[in-house]
Amino acid sequence: MKTKTILITGASHGIGKAIAARFAAEGFSLVLNCKNDIDILHDYADRLSHTCGIQALAIPGDVSDHDFVREMFARAQATFGGIDVLVNNAGISHVGLLTDLSIDDWNRVIATNLTSVFSCCHEAVPYMVRRKSGCIINISSVWGNVGASCEVAYSASKGGVNSFTKALAKELAPSNITVNAIACGVIDTRMNSCFDAEERASLEKDIPMGRYGEPQEVAALAWQLASAPAYLTGQILTIDGGWQ
Ligand code: NAP
Repeated sequence: MKTKTILITGASHGIGKAIAARFAAEGFSLVLNCKNDIDILHDYADRLSHTCGIQALAIPGDVSDHDFVREMFARAQATFGGIDVLVNNAGISHVGLLTDLSIDDWNRVIATNLTSVFSCCHEAVPYMVRRKSGCIINISSVWGNVGASCEVAYSASKGGVNSFTKALAKELAPSNITVNAIACGVIDTRMNSCFDAEERASLEKDIPMGRYGEPQEVAALAWQLASAPAYLTGQILTIDGGWQ
């Protein structure tokens, strides 16, 4: 039987990195992407490939660039023959008042967090449809459900990801392909490194679980989604310690 392949965008840090480790431990071949920390990505792909005895291909580039995404999938498919699990994880945040948000900031957030999801699905789906199987997991946010003050672009991008997920799940269910999203609360990654110790303690007080989530907990949920019955599709699964 062919070894299954997962493609994870934004795998140099945080949640994407943890998802890569989890699927490598399960024997998947990996295609790992990021935009900036290219050396970290290559080292990580090498490390997982040695420690887990799997194949791992690093393809750095900007997922907000549709042409790059097409090249990334062409390379991935030439190496592994197709992607069985796609995790759209790459994302950026932008904090500030709407009135201070430039059109360039808006476009950057929407292109990175939402348009990239369209581009990756566009390239991944034809192979999945031919195989009549596949799993797409979009990493979203609780702000996509309820909106955050001073994060309108980010909230809009994740709200878009949630609607995209539900719509594509309906379109692909007849082909036995699942499409789900994981809406994260506060997860302990670089994205939240802007909070100092006092701000962190105050935020943790508001979270019923009393702490940030770990990237490995999101990775465990991603693995469960990838191994769940195909009837579980079109869902936005929130993992936030009971916060929102
Ligand atoms: P992170 O540690 O900052 O990781 C973000 C990843 O995305 C990095 O690997 C980064 O790689 C990559 N990336 C950013 N822009 C990219 C681009 N244009 N093309 C390719 N890769 C790009 O943050 P994280 O918390 O793990 O975030 C992962 C996902 O979880 C994001 O979608 C985020 O919105 C979502 N999320 C996180 C939280 C949280 O509390 N942490 C909450 C809700 C949702 P390089 O910098 O090396 O390019």
